[in-house]
Amino acid sequence: MTRPLLPAHSDALALDAHDPLPTRRDEFLIPRHGDGEQAYFVGNSLGLQPRAARASVDEVLDAWERVAVEGHFTGQAQWMTYHELVAEPLAQVVGAHREEVVAMNSLTANLHFLMVSFYRPTRERPAILMEAGAFPSDRYALESQVRFHGFDPATDLIEVEPGADGLFGTARIADAIERHGDRLALVLWPGVQYRTGEAFDLAEITRLAHAAGAVAGFDLAHAVGNLPLHLHDSDADFAVWCHYKYLNSGPGAVAGAFVHARHAQADLPRFAGWWGHDKATRFRMGPEFQPTPGAEGWQLSNPPILGLAPLRAALAPFADTGMPALRAKSARLTGYLEHLIRTHLQDVLDIVTPADPARRGAQLSLRVRGGRDEGRALFDHLAAHGVLGDWREPDVIRISPAPLYNTHADILRFAQGVAAWRAG
Ligand SMILES: *Cc1c(COP(=O)(O)O)cnc(C)c1O
Repeated sequence: MTRPLLPAHSDALALDAHDPLPTRRDEFLIPRHGDGEQAYFVGNSLGLQPRAARASVDEVLDAWERVAVEGHFTGQAQWMTYHELVAEPLAQVVGAHREEVVAMNSLTANLHFLMVSFYRPTRERPAILMEAGAFPSDRYALESQVRFHGFDPATDLIEVEPGADGLFGTARIADAIERHGDRLALVLWPGVQYRTGEAFDLAEITRLAHAAGAVAGFDLAHAVGNLPLHLHDSDADFAVWCHYKYLNSGPGAVAGAFVHARHAQADLPRFAGWWGHDKATRFRMGPEFQPTPGAEGWQLSNPPILGLAPLRAALAPFADTGMPALRAKSARLTGYLEHLIRTHLQDVLDIVTPADPARRGAQLSLRVRGGRDEGRALFDHLAAHGVLGDWREPDVIRISPAPLYNTHADILRFAQGVAAWRAG
């Protein structure tokens, strides 16, 4: 049997040259492979370093050196209000009002802190609904919260099973909410499922949760910087996410949180700290906690400025390109990857991620048909040739073209690598 030939390298270069949104690859530090560059598809795990990150960190180190404690009050990027510099572009990226977002802590910590306010189980309504097969940290957090309140995860942590194809779809979620509705305190759902790359309709899930009398919260680790979000309009109660995946802010970067404007002034229970205190009176150092209205009122500590500095730099290209244009390019890149696989690599790879572009983001999860050992061998072959995806046991390779720095040429390199391994 003769196979159709893969496109030529020049074809992929032409697609890149004529793409309506030019790549910003030059603004990133691409890991080297031999004399060339890696085809790096792991922006869903750790986004690449923006060149501007170093200058942003140096600016903080320099101010610390020159003016030390006065750095809190010196210049436009003074530390006292530094977190506010990132709030505006961040609000744009997630489709929220400026007061609804804050950069603070880490993702799992934010999940816990917001659940203090938004998971208020009662005897009648003790349960949390989440997806089966969730990222382990989320499951640990939710299970420990259920226990902390004196309830039993065996009955009160409800994990919705996906279909045989590993996907949920809105109908399955609606079904589960309907079935357990009168016992639900909280529906906690991902924006994009990390293993399969399935994307969800946040507004619809929120509507269903609210109709059942439950709170709606989201973990957007794999959605932020990947899909255009409309958090305010979705009506979600709260959301949390990290910034080191699609948002390129560096390992362990300061994370993000959203609290809907309707809760801005609400007298919700919370774990308080001085940085969440009303800004106007914080330095009176009084004994009574008065929360700042909005998401900032959930802050605990004065923020790690050195941790916020790369985030400030990393948000700039998102703010000036805008999520709609980035998403359109992302759909073209992922569509090209899908096309090459369906046309040329069907006998090796099975696409787990939904075929409908509206139900996925950048990532395709690819099950290797030959099983675990074949899959691992293919993954290692690709890595040895400078094509980096990531491996999920037992047989899945995740490939996530990031629209700021990945190209059609990168994607063709992936396809050529798989073809060479098959021929090998
Ligand atoms: C990446 C990721 C995490 C990681 O949590 P940290 O607190 O940042 O270590 C948690 N949950 C999900 C869904 C993730 O994708």
